[in-house]
Amino acid sequence: MSRLMKNEGCPKSNDMNMDINIYKGQIWKKSSSKVYSPELLGLLESKDALVILKNGEPPFHVVIGVPHQAAVGVTTIAENWTNPRGKKGRDSDENAASFALAVFSELCDQKIPCKLVIAAHSTDHDPNKDANSPYCKEVFSEKIHFLLECHGAGEQRKQDIEISAGTNSLGNALDFGRQLATKLNFQYSLSAQIEAGSNKAKSISKDKEIDTTLVLPALETTSLIQAEKREIAALHLEAKPRFRISENDDSISADGLILGNAIAEVILLKGNL
Ligand SMILES: [Zn+2]
Repeated sequence: MSRLMKNEGCPKSNDMNMDINIYKGQIWKKSSSKVYSPELLGLLESKDALVILKNGEPPFHVVIGVPHQAAVGVTTIAENWTNPRGKKGRDSDENAASFALAVFSELCDQKIPCKLVIAAHSTDHDPNKDANSPYCKEVFSEKIHFLLECHGAGEQRKQDIEISAGTNSLGNALDFGRQLATKLNFQYSLSAQIEAGSNKAKSISKDKEIDTTLVLPALETTSLIQAEKREIAALHLEAKPRFRISENDDSISADGLILGNAIAEVILLKGNL
């Protein structure tokens, strides 16, 4: 085989530099206050690290994905990457792994087979926008029923929580959003996409639902599109800084813990999805 032919199949994947870490240690140093164990915190604050936590064996009931994790205070990732529109880098989702870890930890306590895949500060690609990225490959490496991607939204965002399925017609964002709003006792503002492929949404409160539009409907997100090709329901959830940034950088915020536990309850309710 010529060198040219050998390179033809996956010309890009070698450019994406991620150190793969299957983390089997403790999640919390102090379970009562949800302080990270130092080893896990080190991974969450590092660059170009794919951090994988597994509970049980596949098929996994859910894979929780965090493609844009970065340490608190680090606002830009993929700084050595240029997007198709010519812009360098992209916003990070500071400490989005925190509430995802709360979901994972609760599902582990309930003995649910699940996996958490965190791309910590990729410097040379956008992990959920390329089917050949180490993040996407890991998300789809084993049989799964449901993909939930956890993201961060900025402080200025109108709603505290936004949920979208992007173009994934198997993920019912409105149904998930209604159940999540109920579990959260309607204490945060929450909007959820009405139908896949659209930016139309409902803002869900205790007494009423109001028509609105999503700021980031995730209609071009590769991971959500790839999930549908594999007949996997997928959702994209964005949470404001109050859910991700606590007073201490080594722990989860009080709101993040409430959100993580509520997401886990909704996942448990949904059975096999
Ligand atoms: Zn994100």
